[in-house]
Amino acid sequence: MIPIQALGNCILTQLPADVWAHWEVHFEELALPEGRILCEPGQALTHIYFPTTAIVSWQYLLASGECTEIAMVGKEGLVGLDLLMGAMHSNNQAVVQTAGHCIRIKLDVVLQSFQQNQIAQSLIMLYAGALIAQMSHGNVCRQHHTVEQQLSRMILMVLDRQKELHMHKTHEGMAQALGVRRESVSLAAAKLMKQGFISYSRGHLEVLDRAGLVQRSCECYKLLQQLRCQEFCVKGAVVKPKPSDCGWHSGSSLPPYAGLLCA
Ligand SMILES: [Zn+2]
Repeated sequence: MIPIQALGNCILTQLPADVWAHWEVHFEELALPEGRILCEPGQALTHIYFPTTAIVSWQYLLASGECTEIAMVGKEGLVGLDLLMGAMHSNNQAVVQTAGHCIRIKLDVVLQSFQQNQIAQSLIMLYAGALIAQMSHGNVCRQHHTVEQQLSRMILMVLDRQKELHMHKTHEGMAQALGVRRESVSLAAAKLMKQGFISYSRGHLEVLDRAGLVQRSCECYKLLQQLRCQEFCVKGAVVKPKPSDCGWHSGSSLPPYAGLLCA
């Protein structure tokens, strides 16, 4: 029987039937609380994690103890990609930033399909491309765009990976993720509140005007949206012609480019 939770992950929902049948018996559904560390630097993962409702943050840890978010993984992807690519371990930390669920599968099961099944390999490689784009644009964004724009981008990226319009975020946590001072985040959040895009109180952030936030964000977010739609709904459709089932565009909060590229 197919666990309903698995239907929320874009990669799992696009698997060919034979790979799905092979993986399904190995599915483990896990509830992931906020703050759970899935992977420490230097640690060899034994499983691949496919978030369904949880959102995981890849963070680079400095020797000083400080850390910066380098990528966000939700229902569009998986945690453990570098191990599928042949690495012995990851160099970064994977920590749950939004509590939720995931499907966990043993590494050797996924690795076998990745090496032997062309469609499974293509799906994972498409996600790898999207992840590389996210990392590279994050780098450019930090150097060229304002904290207000970066904060807007980060909030929108979380929204894209969940159904709710609210999230638990402290100024300290957002500053850490963006690699900027807490005061800069407080100032940027105050500007977004004043413009009516968000409300914020004691760690509870709610998006009031998503379209406005998209406009306030930078070109990095809009470009990543386009890339994701192309990866999972145009190329993905060749693999399995059900782009609307990928979970990425389900729910009431469609991203602005979904209609453009997924029609
Ligand atoms: Zn940017």
